[in-house]
This record gives sequence, structure tokens and C-alpha cells, in this order.
Amino acid sequence: MELGDVPEHLVILGGGYVGLEFGQMFCRFGSMVTIVQRSGQLLPREDADIAEAVTDILREDGIQVVLNATARRVTPTAEGGVALAIDTPGGAQTVTGSHLLVATGRTPNSDRLNLEAAGVATDAHGYIKVNDRLETSAPGVYALGDVKGGPQFTHITYDDYRIVCNNLLKGKEVTITDRLVPYCVFIDPQLGRVGLTEREALAQGRRIRVAKMPMSHVARALEVDEPRGLMKAIVDASTGQILGCAILGIEGGEIMAILQVAMMGGLPYTALRDGVFAHPTLAEALNNLFLNLDDLRDDMLHDSAVDELPVPEGIRDVLNRVTEVLSRGRNSPKT
Ligand SMILES: Cc1cc2nc3c(=O)[nH]c(=O)nc-3n(C[C@H](O)[C@H](O)[C@H](O)COP(=O)(O)OP(=O)(O)OC[C@H]3O[C@@H](n4cnc5c(N)ncnc54)[C@H](O)[C@@H]3O)c2cc1C
Repeated sequence: MELGDVPEHLVILGGGYVGLEFGQMFCRFGSMVTIVQRSGQLLPREDADIAEAVTDILREDGIQVVLNATARRVTPTAEGGVALAIDTPGGAQTVTGSHLLVATGRTPNSDRLNLEAAGVATDAHGYIKVNDRLETSAPGVYALGDVKGGPQFTHITYDDYRIVCNNLLKGKEVTITDRLVPYCVFIDPQLGRVGLTEREALAQGRRIRVAKMPMSHVARALEVDEPRGLMKAIVDASTGQILGCAILGIEGGEIMAILQVAMMGGLPYTALRDGVFAHPTLAEALNNLFLNLDDLRDDMLHDSAVDELPVPEGIRDVLNRVTEVLSRGRNSPKT
């Protein structure tokens, strides 16, 4: 993508991470930007609350976001721009702009390789089929990276290499099974993600607890004047293990990595809730994030013996308010 000029009005088709990153980048270059998304939320794989917070940030930056919009047709305009015809719940509309960026995903070019001749099978979308050791249907042939389907990230491609290298050259038996897949959406502020979303955990029938805290409660975020976003973590209610997190906020990818390391080491959330982190770092916010677990904010209520006790609504409200006040005091910016 080599442009000599900054587009006057960039229309982006697709509200995945590429569309959002490019959208915010061109918005900051000075373009008017409209993102058109087919589904009812940007970043459709994320939890709705995270996607909504991302949308709020982009709209605050001045980006127009059109949801529930199915693209029908692209035609040139008399001014040399583009007209994108969309169907929305409110009827047919046209979005016009000077440039159009199609960011609706990528497809493998495996159809040009005559893979059948080598006995390498692909799926209906052209991705090369592999097992958990990245072996294709042809003995001695492996597929690594985007072309095998699944999560498409540079670090996953690198880990694919590590797996094949270890198995082939070092006689090891490693697989992609249960591999953690972290990623970061490089909007500003970032969205760092790893593990299960709340929706995925519930779909798996897991009993979970959810910890959420706005970045406006994080001292460091206030100090650097970027209090937008929120932290969210999913915890297994029985074991206390962290199952996943979404950190939308300043350096969200780095905070996510702290939680990822806790997940890799099998640490329960209490280790982060009670750990001592330097003030005023972003990391120290993990103390308060896990105090916010599922509204049951009193430590004693997290002990398994009393977890199941019914807490009358009035008392729960009082506990919540007390913890919120305490949490605000502890998180107030350093003076
Ligand atoms: C706009 C954008 C932003 C991204 N941002 C991130 C990010 O921030 N973080 C992240 O982790 N991932 C990001 N990704 C995804 C990341 O780029 C890919 O997951 C990664 O590059 C996959 O590596 P790969 O080696 O499988 O494929 P590629 O990097 O695509 O490499 C494949 C290579 O094979 C070559 N090739 C193709 N066909 C043939 C052929 N027939 N013969 C010979 N050579 C061939 C291609 O030219 C290319 O050089 C982004 C992707 C895009 C499009």
C-alpha cells in the first residue's frame, strides 16, 4: 500500500484488527475515516463490552463506525472517488469516500501450487490441512504459518517453526495443542488479549468469575493522561486459574503479557491480587483488578467455603461501595 497523498476520506470495509489499526492511523494523519462492518460489533470475536469500548475510543477520535452493514457494490464517483453501497437495518445506503481499503481478511494462494500432485490436502477455503505436529497429508511435508489456517500472527508462525524444528531436528514430541495465542490490536490505546473471552468460557460451560476495572481507576493511566479503556480477566471459579484477559488501555499488550505469564505458570488470580508491584506502574493495577472479581469484592467472600453463601443485595451494595471508595483512594495519582 503505497500512497502519495493522505486520503481525504478513507472508507474501510471490515472492522477487524487491520481495519481498525489502519483507520486510526489515517485518522491521525488527517483523513476522514469511515469503517463499515458487517456484524453488530467491531472485532467480532471479542466480548461485546470490549468491542463497545474500542468503538467508543475510535468514535471519540473522530472515526465514523457503521455497524450491521452489508456491502453490496462499489462504483466510482464522478469526482474520482468510490461509492460503497450497503444494506443496513435502516435500509439501503451509500457511503462515499476518496479511497476504499478492503480489510475483510486474507485468503491463501495455495490453489496456484498444484498441491494435489504432491498429495497435500487443503480445506474448502484453501488452507493446508495439518495435524497438531503441523504434518500435512503428504509424509515429510509440513505447513507453517498463515497458510495452514487458524490464528494468523507472526508469533504463531514463529512458534510453528519452533515446533517443526524441535520435532525434526531435536527428536522432541511437541505439538500446537493447548498453545496460548496472545495478540495485540495496535490501536491507541492498545488491546492486549490472551486466552478465553467471557463468551468463549461460558460457551464451554465453564463456571467463571469476571474481573473488570476501568483504566480511569489506574493511577499510572491517569498520570500519563490516557485513562481510556478497561481491564478484564476471566477466572475459573473452582480453581482460581486465570483463563484469559482483555486489556484495553495504555500498554495493554504488556499488561496482557503479565497475565499470560501467570497463566503459563499456573498461578491463581490471588497471586496477582495480593502481589506487591511497584507504584506507580501499570502492573500494580492487577491488585485492584482482581479485587473487583465478580462484584464479590470482599476477600473473605472468595474463600471457597463462603463462596456459595447468599449475600443479601443490600449488603453486597454496601461492600461494593466500600471497596470502590478504598480502591479509589489507593489508585489516586501519585503526588
Ligand atoms: C496489515 C497487517 C498487519 C498485521 N499485523 C500483525 C501484527 O501486528 N502482529 C502479528 O503478529 N501479525 C500481524 N499480521 C499477520 C502477520 O503478518 C502474519 O501472520 C505473518 O506474516 C504470517 O507469516 P507467514 O510466514 O505464514 O506468511 P507471510 O509473512 O505472508 O510470508 C509468506 C511468504 O511466502 C511468499 N510466497 C507466497 N506464495 C509463494 C509461492 N508460490 N512461491 C514462493 N513464495 C511464495 C510470500 O511472498 C511471502 O513472502 C498482520 C497482517 C497484516 C496483513
